[in-house]
Amino acid sequence: MIDAARSPWPDVAAHLAGPSGLAVLPFGALEQHGPHLPLSTDTLTAVELAHRLAGRLDAVLLPPVHYGDTWNNAGYPGTVSLAPGTVTAIAVDVGRAVSAAGGRALVVVNGDWGNRGPLYSAMRTLAADGIPAITLDHPGMAAAIEAVRESREAAPGLAHAEEVETSLVLAIDPAMVRTDRYVAEYPDFPTDFGTRPMQLHPFSASGVFGDPRTATAAKGETLLAATLQGCLDVLAGFVAGLPPR
Ligand SMILES: [Zn+2]
Repeated sequence: MIDAARSPWPDVAAHLAGPSGLAVLPFGALEQHGPHLPLSTDTLTAVELAHRLAGRLDAVLLPPVHYGDTWNNAGYPGTVSLAPGTVTAIAVDVGRAVSAAGGRALVVVNGDWGNRGPLYSAMRTLAADGIPAITLDHPGMAAAIEAVRESREAAPGLAHAEEVETSLVLAIDPAMVRTDRYVAEYPDFPTDFGTRPMQLHPFSASGVFGDPRTATAAKGETLLAATLQGCLDVLAGFVAGLPPR
């Protein structure tokens, strides 16, 4: 593994030309995560997973994108959201640059729900260019959440600034968690929640969706380990399908 941001270009070029040839890009967000977690919560998670993944794949670790498409949290001051087309354009540009530098494929580790659509569009554009690329959206994490979660979820599949995300940050960088500020919020969502674009600030004053009080670093580590394994499982097929070196 080599950390591109901390390495001279000949070292990175040699690594991209090597047997792995993979470049791993963490794609984060600057998004509200309640009164107790940092705006960079999704970036922290993406960077941690990308770092572990690059180690296992002997890949080039790229520096993270600290912004993402966080339109649904844009009503909370402090959130800085990119337009979906910007997210797509960044991922396409990075994929093309990695390919031009001799890399075999781009692996995007996505940290934020809002980036999913834009990153999928980017993967389609890169595929049309003949550049192998894949986005990983926390594969394996949902099953691990079911195994560790003690609190009730605010809505099906919604994990925001509650037990899950707080556990992740406690595992990655506990100094970033203001444990004296925990609050639980369970909004009343309309029946069409999740079926059409809806901003979140009318539903939770704090920005918490669920309950962070049952979060622990041990749960966060379990979630990270399960997600790393999920990423490796998905990538096994992807890497097997790449042109041989
Ligand atoms: Zn998040």
